[in-house]
Order: sequence, then C-alpha cells, then structure tokens
Amino acid sequence: MSKVLVIGAGGVSSVAVHKMAQQIADGSGPFSDILLASRTLEKCESIALSVKKRTDVDISVEQLDADDVPATVALIEKSGPDLVVNLALPYQDLPIMDACLATKTDYLDTANYEPRDEAKFEYKWQWDYHERFKEAGIMALLGSGFDPGVTSVFTCWLKKHHFDRIDTLDILDCNGGDHGQHFATNFNPEINIREITAPARHWEDGQWVETPALSHKQAFDFEEVGEKNMYLMYHEEIESLKTHIPEIRRIRFWMTFGDAYLTHLEVLQNVGMTSIEEIEYQGKKIVPLQFLKAVLPEPASLGETTKGKTNIGVIATGVKNGEQKTVYVKNICSHEAAFQETGNQGVSYTTGVPAMIGSALMLSNKWRGDGVFNMEQFDPDPFMDMLNAHGLPWKVEQLDAPLDF
Ligand code: NDP
Repeated sequence: MSKVLVIGAGGVSSVAVHKMAQQIADGSGPFSDILLASRTLEKCESIALSVKKRTDVDISVEQLDADDVPATVALIEKSGPDLVVNLALPYQDLPIMDACLATKTDYLDTANYEPRDEAKFEYKWQWDYHERFKEAGIMALLGSGFDPGVTSVFTCWLKKHHFDRIDTLDILDCNGGDHGQHFATNFNPEINIREITAPARHWEDGQWVETPALSHKQAFDFEEVGEKNMYLMYHEEIESLKTHIPEIRRIRFWMTFGDAYLTHLEVLQNVGMTSIEEIEYQGKKIVPLQFLKAVLPEPASLGETTKGKTNIGVIATGVKNGEQKTVYVKNICSHEAAFQETGNQGVSYTTGVPAMIGSALMLSNKWRGDGVFNMEQFDPDPFMDMLNAHGLPWKVEQLDAPLDF
C-alpha cells in the first residue's frame, strides 16, 4: 500500500484527493495514506474536512511553499511518500521535480512547466529531466489530467484498437457549463487566460502552423450539450503527440467559448489587464494578469452554481486494413453530478480523476519506467478501464466521413 504527497489545494487537487480517499475507504486501489500540502493551510484543512465527511477517511495536511525546493525536500524526507502528485500550478513543476530528484521519489503532474514571465506551454524544460530521472531510477508522468491526459490516452487507444495508421487528429474540448457569473474561468484564471490569448498553433505536415489567437471559429454539435462555437488553439498535448506518434499528419485542438466570455476577454485584453509584463503601481511591482486573478472568482468556488455538461473527445481519421475510417471517442461529464460527489465542478472533476488514475497506475506498477514520460507512451487499456470505473465513462462511435473543416 502506498503513501502519496499531493501538492496544491485547488479544485483539481480536491477531486483527486476525494477519489483517492474513496479507494482507501473501500480498499480497492493502491492508496493507503494521503498527505495534502499547499501554500494556504486552511485550503488543505477544508479539503480534509470534506473528505472526512464524504468518505470517513482521515488525511494529513501541511503548509508548503513548493517554490522552496529545500522545504519540499524536507517534507518528502519527513513524510516518505511513494509518489508526489503535483496539483499546484505549472510554475511549480520544476522546483517539485528537483525535490523529487533530490529524494529519489516518483512524480506526476497535469500541466507542463511555465516560466512566470513567458507564456510558452512547451515540454522542453521537463523533457530535459529525462536522463536525470532515469539515472536516479525514478519516474515522472507528465500531463495526467483530461487535456492533456485523457485526450492522449484516447488517441493511443484508437491507434491500438481501431487504426493501422492515424492521419489526422482533432481534439474537441467543450464546456457546456454555466456558472451564472459574468466572467470566471473554470480552472486557474492566470493559466487559463495565458492559454487562450496565446497565438493558435497546430501541427501539419511536419511543421507548426501559427494563426492569431481566436481567429479560426467553427460551429460543432456536441452530444448532450448542443451546438457551440469552438476555436482553434494551441494546447500542450499537440507537442507530445506529434513527438510520440509522428505518423499523425495533422493535429488540431479546439475549445468552445461563449460570446459573452470572449467579449469580456477582449475588453480585458484591450485595456492591458491580461498582460504578464510587470508594471509599477503605487511603488509596488504588480503583474496585471495576477491582479485580475485576485479579483475573479476562485474556480473552486464555482461548483455550487455550475449547471450543464462538459464533452471532451478526439476524432481520428486514418486507415485500417486499407480502408479509410473516422472514429470519435469522448467523455460527457455533468457538473452537477461532479459537485454532488466531490463538492467541485466538472472541469476540476475531469482533471482530478485522471490525476488519481495516473497515480494508481504508477503505484501499482502497471505504468512504469525510469525517466520522464507522457501519457501516450504507455498501454492505454488499464487507464481506459479505470475511467469507466471511476466516474468518467467514455463512448466510441464511427463517423460516416472525416471532418469537413
Ligand atoms: P487552483 O488555482 O484552483 O489551485 C492551485 C493550488 O496550488 C492552490 O491551492 C494554490 O494555493 C496552490 N499553489 C500555488 N502556488 C503554490 C506554491 N508555490 N506552493 C504550494 N502550493 C501552491 O488550480 P486548479 O486546481 O484549477 O488547477 C491545478 C492544476 O491543474 C494547474 O496546474 C492547472 O493548469 C492544471 N489543470 C490541468 C488540466 C488538464 O486537463 N490537464 C485542466 C485544468 C487544470 P493558494 O490558493 O494558496 O495560492
């Protein structure tokens, strides 16, 4: 049985910890002890209280600033976890990986490293740790959320069971939820707005194709949600998928946004509130986007009011036994059901459940290797089975024709 140290106490962490505790309660999974550590101790305590109420499992809590590598090393040495699950922010990825190297402890996260002063969304910094993790005989699993995460597992599963070769891949992320707020983001606002305002990039014929942010719009009818406008965006799994499954000629990522959301964003951008450049304000240096985050609702607070569903999936076109075919695999998740089960909305749920599943597969040695790995480097089958068993069931259908856009 295994002990995990979960770092970060936002919505994603809350879901992952509830799901791990459910397995401690019913004796099904590899988890035996959970230590939850984050910058604000009260947030850890509040998750621990909810876990106790819902599952009757006790978890331990600690205050930790994970930017402080010696502090993280000291906590790992004191508590002796088998795995560190990083559910803080992308800025903490490298300091936490350094602490894992120093203590020879396995590592998992859900989002790739971001320097604070550049919006890059690139794996290069974390892939650079591969040799050091390999030499230390430890494993890092990167991007075990929904996208990245499940979308890469879906792609691998399609490749394994439905195709001899995949030619094109479209990842479609629809959040059909309504939280009743004028403007709020469903996960960390700073990371979310950085992603959306960055130029769109997709992979085609061996190169990146860059277009202005939010300039390519397409209507799509999402099952159980309805027709929505989705926009071409860059997303980090494109980089890892084109690296690990190089046969795919074109990889695109689409995300839905409502008109009101985009109007608010445009105004905020026009007045400079989404900038990540430091400015001087009343003798103090501030980053406008970080100030904006401070005045926006906490994603974790949106659970109670969010209604509707998410629908995230991948559509692959390729060849099987000489015939062209197109297959769509997706999950549909209800915000209300997610809230009822864990006290968090669907976007946290669809990320926290895969974080728990990745952790369980590492701890049970079903996914194992020395070095730094992305999701598509492992057998998708046990992950797909666990999605069905732990609240994110998926469905698969063959489409009549490839996408015509
Ligand atoms: P939140 O902002 O709700 O939570 C982040 C948590 O990390 C907070 O508790 C915060 O503490 C804590 N934290 C921040 N800095 C530090 C630090 N230096 N040391 C310790 N703790 C720290 O984010 P979410 O829960 O929505 O997202 C968590 C992660 O999941 C993010 O990296 C996000 O990018 C990723 N994500 C991935 C998705 C996927 O599908 N792959 C989808 C959605 C999110 P405090 O509140 O005290 O600042």
